[in-house]
Parts: sequence; structure tokens; C-alpha cells
Amino acid sequence: MTKKRISQKLRRLVKERALGYCEYCICPDSHATQEHSLEHIIPEVQDGRSTGDNLALSCQGCNNIKYNKTHTHDPVSQEIVSFFHPRHDNWHEHFTWGADRLTLVGLTPIGRATIEALRLNRKGVINLRRLLLLDGKHPPAHRSSSE
Ligand SMILES: [Zn+2]
Repeated sequence: MTKKRISQKLRRLVKERALGYCEYCICPDSHATQEHSLEHIIPEVQDGRSTGDNLALSCQGCNNIKYNKTHTHDPVSQEIVSFFHPRHDNWHEHFTWGADRLTLVGLTPIGRATIEALRLNRKGVINLRRLLLLDGKHPPAHRSSSE
């Protein structure tokens, strides 16, 4: 089966819907060394479709780590849970920022498991958040815990 090409219109929709931010680590496309990509939430190898409800904007780091995975272990309960689903799950239910406003903290098994598996607090991401925070651009309004 050949992969179906994603239209420019759909690419634009996904990027605009995410406000240009990776929907996992919340890093802006404007400050990434490589352009963010469209990530299949349910991978194509599991019959995930290239439709708006199955696509998320993702930085290359998150996209590479997630690859074809959809589930992982909650590091606290060890239960197997699905990754955070940017189309179905409410970000504010699953995540908040730590007191330093640099570290993502999971509020639920899904939040904790996604942070751990996708390494959403990896060194480069923390460093970028720190620079953006100093510049008054982090956390972005749509992912601010204090709202
Ligand atoms: Zn990311």
C-alpha cells in the first residue's frame, strides 16, 4: 500500500490548529532546528488515516521517539495506558507545569506515561523552554497552567 500524500490544505489546518507548537512537548516550530511534521496519532501501520482527526503537529524529536507506538506504561502504577491523544484528550486534564515552569508534570496515568515515554522533559527541550521563558514566551497562553 502506498502512503497517501497529505494535501497542503490539511498541513496548514494541522499547523494552525496547533498554533505552530509541538502538541507533545509544546515547543514552537518557530524555534525548532527542523520544521515540525505531521504525526499520525494512530500510526499508518495500524491503519491510522491521514485525516485531520488523526494528525498532530509534532517536533522531529517527539515524532521520532513516538514512531509507531500508541501505548506505554504509567511509571507510577505500571498500568499500560494510551499516549496522550491531542484530538481526544484535554491537555489541561493530563499535564501541568512544575514550579520552575520548565518541567512538564503528569496529572494522570496518561500524562505521566506520555511524559516518560516521549521524554518530554529532555535536556534540549528544557533548555529551549528556559530561553523562551526568559524571553516571556513560555509557557504559551494556550498551554499555561494558570488559566
Ligand atoms: Zn515535541
